[in-house]
Amino acid sequence: MTIRRLPESLINRIAAGEVVERPASAVKELVENSIDAGARRIDIAIRDGGKSLISVSDDGSGMTPDELQLAIERHATSKLADDDLFDIQTMGFRGEALPSLGAVSRLSIVSRPEGADSAWSITVEGGAVSAPQPAAHPRGTRIDVRDLFYATPARLKFLKGDRAETAQILDTVKRLAMARPDIAFTVRDDTRERFRCDIANGDLLDTRLARLGAVMGREFADNALRIDAEREGIRLTGYAGLPTLNRSNAMQQFLFVNGRPVRDKLLHGAVRGAYMDFLANNRHPMVALFVAIEPRSVDVNVHPAKAEVRFRDAGLVRGLIVGALKHALAEAGHRASTTVADAALGAVRPGMGSLPYGRSGGGSYGYRPSTPSPGLAASAAAFQSPFGGSALAQPSVAPSADDTLSQGSYPLGAARAQLHETYVVAQTADGIVIVDQHAAHERLVYERMKKALGETGVARQALLIPEVVELDESAVARLVQRAGELQELGLVVEAFGDGAVLVREVPAMLGQVDSQALVRDLADELSEFGDAFSLKERLEDVCGTMACHGSVRAGRRLNGDEMNALLREMEVTPHSGQCNHGRPTFVELKLADIERLFGRR
Ligand code: ADP
Ligand code: MG
Repeated sequence: MTIRRLPESLINRIAAGEVVERPASAVKELVENSIDAGARRIDIAIRDGGKSLISVSDDGSGMTPDELQLAIERHATSKLADDDLFDIQTMGFRGEALPSLGAVSRLSIVSRPEGADSAWSITVEGGAVSAPQPAAHPRGTRIDVRDLFYATPARLKFLKGDRAETAQILDTVKRLAMARPDIAFTVRDDTRERFRCDIANGDLLDTRLARLGAVMGREFADNALRIDAEREGIRLTGYAGLPTLNRSNAMQQFLFVNGRPVRDKLLHGAVRGAYMDFLANNRHPMVALFVAIEPRSVDVNVHPAKAEVRFRDAGLVRGLIVGALKHALAEAGHRASTTVADAALGAVRPGMGSLPYGRSGGGSYGYRPSTPSPGLAASAAAFQSPFGGSALAQPSVAPSADDTLSQGSYPLGAARAQLHETYVVAQTADGIVIVDQHAAHERLVYERMKKALGETGVARQALLIPEVVELDESAVARLVQRAGELQELGLVVEAFGDGAVLVREVPAMLGQVDSQALVRDLADELSEFGDAFSLKERLEDVCGTMACHGSVRAGRRLNGDEMNALLREMEVTPHSGQCNHGRPTFVELKLADIERLFGRR
């Protein structure tokens, strides 16, 4: 056996295997270098998904010819001034990226520092370094990586198609751009500009929101709650989307630690915990969170690509995230995202639905009010009169004189009608609100139940005549076994002979209950839970089931007082804008929106 020292070029190629996995990782390294160099604008050009060319230009500090030569040497860096690995303030610090790229591509750098009268260039090809040459270039640096992995065909084979590699590159740049609203970014490919974000003006939080909107979409910027919290010297800022703005995967959840985009399980776990009450298991909120922490309390040197971090006190960070998100969500109260109204309008916009009397493109009505619309408020009272036939339930609220209610003192307005025994229509100061009474009621029952459990206990209401519910024996056994837990939730049942239970009391908050159906459904639900969960852990489901049999469930006629009571309670109940599964409980349409629907605007 012969042990020998490997040649430098081979060492670099081995290192490149870890640092530069694909074109996107090369882009990441180069852009991070530009950020560390203090650039204010960074322009990226790629060809063939980055495989034939990646070019990154910046207006940063630049390098002198001597620095150029050092920069491409292994473990040469300007960023660890005190040799202190525990106090990292920059994106880079390992001094590996440029030599690695030089080992697996044709690398050329042209750079000019502030005040120098010329630029210099240097090239590395398959590890062979040229002497620096004078060149023409404005202040800053351009680094070109050509024919990535030409020297390592095995790696080349693992790359995906151009389209997929381009998508990865865009994702990488966007993540970096989210953290730095003070830097302008562009990405071009062979044919066109693929991404651009300019520098926005304003204070940090505003510019950050503008930048997040540019990357994550306007929808996010319009429906995000500002997060700003601190615990033991760790600061958490950023934005969290309303629960009704949700996605089918967690791709739109971003975490940054001291400006560095990281992928971290801790984040996803914490976010899931915070939104648990508002979203179904398979839905995911959108968030962008920024942790500012003393560099000594976090280790970024976990992996060569630096995409993971290790916190000294992970529990603390998790607690901070969960606490801050929950707090923000509670403050958001009954607010539901604007996307809900947009979607609703999209659905009713003329020409898009399938109205029986045919479609009309916009503008083909030939009807325009000659005077500017006085707003629909005046005619709102007439809303019910053209209907009232068999298609719709008889409106149960008179368009009463109770105008104080509609004058905007209540955000959810005054109930005007109930449609299909399911939807409550209310008039607000500047629009209408349509409430899904069942979804709303489910949410209210859940929130009331939670509150009652935490405080005085759930109030019960004794049935005048205890109800006998016949069930199979195993269902009876399950109910009796859980009788103590059920009693805490306001439901008192006891065994009654072999195949039945006796219901004595029900949760008062449910109003009139069909206790037969409730107990049957609960028994079914218990069999699905198995024994592993306590009912409190499954409170959402239990409350959902209970609400189904309460008095405000879908399909029940409500009178005016009941409807208004529902609206008032929604207004004061936290999180009432969405049901237990993240669907909205109400839709609000502004008069302006409705007027636009009818071409009045
Ligand atoms: P690291 O970023 O870990 O220091 P790199 O290999 O990425 O290692 O870069 C080596 C050095 O080259 C950096 O420390 C920096 O001094 C210099 N450098 C790289 N890119 C640029 C750039 N765009 N502008 C100015 N200096 C740069
Ligand atoms: Mg670097």
